[in-house]
Amino acid sequence: MIDIKRHNAGFCRDHFLVHCREQVRRAIHDHKMVEPGDRIVVAVSGGKDSLALWDLLVGLEYDVDGLYLGLGIGEYSGESVQFARKYASARGLKLHEVDLQDDLGFTVPGAASVTHRSPCGACGLSKRHVFNTFARDHGYDVVATGHNLDDEAAVLLGNVLRWETGYLGRQHPVLPSAPGFVRKVKPLVRLGEREMAAYCVLQGIDYQVEECPMAEGNRHLGYKEVLNALEERSPGSKASFLFGFLERAHAQFATVAVEEREGLSACIECGSPTTSEICAFCRLRERASGVSLGEGR
Ligand code: SF4
Repeated sequence: MIDIKRHNAGFCRDHFLVHCREQVRRAIHDHKMVEPGDRIVVAVSGGKDSLALWDLLVGLEYDVDGLYLGLGIGEYSGESVQFARKYASARGLKLHEVDLQDDLGFTVPGAASVTHRSPCGACGLSKRHVFNTFARDHGYDVVATGHNLDDEAAVLLGNVLRWETGYLGRQHPVLPSAPGFVRKVKPLVRLGEREMAAYCVLQGIDYQVEECPMAEGNRHLGYKEVLNALEERSPGSKASFLFGFLERAHAQFATVAVEEREGLSACIECGSPTTSEICAFCRLRERASGVSLGEGR
């Protein structure tokens, strides 16, 4: 029996799997994440959320492939890619791979030490850039990521604590397409971290259980701990925090995000939308790889 306190319900195996599929179907439907004929690429890390998401989208009969981005984080990355490959090959699914070191000349730890940024900052910037440009250049309409309810509630808490109005405007299960941007969707937004782990176990999906070694000091882990304590005392707190924001407050910040997007122009190096002549990813890549901008043009 799998208990989900926020729903005040317990599920047997079969009904739990139906529940997960239904939550994803509802998220996609309610937020108009996918249109008929869309090609989807899932950002696959080898962890439980992204593999569960891929599995759920395949189960719902979407046209969906995977994309793994090698971050160059030692053994952790070496193992993670194996989980992604194993999942894809066992099911005959297509997994694309991009490697930061081999394809772009740097790794996340290398970029962090050269730029004195946090590894997670360099990592997040690289993921956003690579997933968007890969989808754009390979004819995908949608990038789907495995952010779940716990992730989104933690991000919201961080954004509210610092009143990041631009980020609050962009915090939504769907970021629509725009010039240079492929649509980004988060179909696991109605499902929690524990549900995704249980889903993988029940579906026989092996995944990377180790925490990324760069995660230490990551602010989001602290926000998750705070929210877990609240959830323990008052089940449903995370969901009401996140969905209350989406229903009642998001629209007030959305115009800030739209204005920010409208002010963007194309990076002269890679064509991605940016506020300056050269985008933040190309500047990061130049510093981390030692390759001067312009040499690749
Ligand atoms: S913990 Fe940080 S460095 Fe590691 S995968 Fe997550 S965002 Fe990237």
